[in-house]
Formats: sequence, C-alpha cells, structure tokens
Amino acid sequence: MNDQENCFICRKHQGLEVFPGGAVFENDLFYSGHSWSASDQETPYLGSFIVEPKRHIPTWAELNDAEAKGIGKVIRDVSKALKEGIGAEHVYVFVIGHHIPHLHVWVMPRFPDTPREYWGLELFEWPERPVGGHKDVKEMSDKIRSLIG
Ligand SMILES: [Zn+2]
Repeated sequence: MNDQENCFICRKHQGLEVFPGGAVFENDLFYSGHSWSASDQETPYLGSFIVEPKRHIPTWAELNDAEAKGIGKVIRDVSKALKEGIGAEHVYVFVIGHHIPHLHVWVMPRFPDTPREYWGLELFEWPERPVGGHKDVKEMSDKIRSLIG
C-alpha cells in the first residue's frame, strides 16, 4: 500500500471510511465534515468541522491554483453556518498537520461563555467543552449542511 491507500482522509473521500454526520459539503475538489478520527475513541468537540482538499497533499504549499482559490469559499461557508446556525461567537481556522500528511483545515466554533483561559487551541483542554456522540454529531452536521445549501 502506498501513502494514499493508508491515508484515512483519502479512504473517507472514497467512501471506505464512514464517519458520523457524513459530508456537509463535497465537490470535485473538497470535502467537509465533522471531525472524527478513525483511531480516536473520544467524543469530539461538538461543532469542530474540517475542510480537506480531495487530493492527497500535505500542506497549503501544494494546493494548485483552483484549490487555493476555492478553499476559502468552503471555509467561509462553514464558518458562516457555525455563526448563524449554532451560535458560535467566534470561529477558529487552523492547520496543525502533525499526524496525517493530508491537508485538513480545522474550522472550529468558540461558544459564548467559554472561559478566556481556554480560548484558541486550549479549547481541546477545556474539561467542560461541548462534546458529542454519533447522534449529536449527525444532528449538527445535518444543520450545517442545510445552511451551506
Ligand atoms: Zn490522503
């Protein structure tokens, strides 16, 4: 198997891995859905969506022109849906990419009354962060999908 065959993001795009909620947006170039790691048994931060190019590329630097132009619109649409649909007071957009060499952009809401010390990447450490199981993730994905249209 090569890197792409081992890549769970590529496998998800091919329908070989199924995650709660499914895609909230998908076209020839991009896929967006709620975060859910194949190996991670923890429930995810509720409302944390990810935008990925379909091509197996590691970073922003490898985006082609069409991808570079298009990805901003997808991130904008998800961000707008998080603000208007589920009450995010702020939306973080970030890439870490330590674990999987397939670009995935986190688009993550911060809800009102989040303590200041847990803003930013500290959201993942907040003991009272909103988390959700399959049902919650599916409901939230349905809502975001309907807003993106
Ligand atoms: Zn991949």
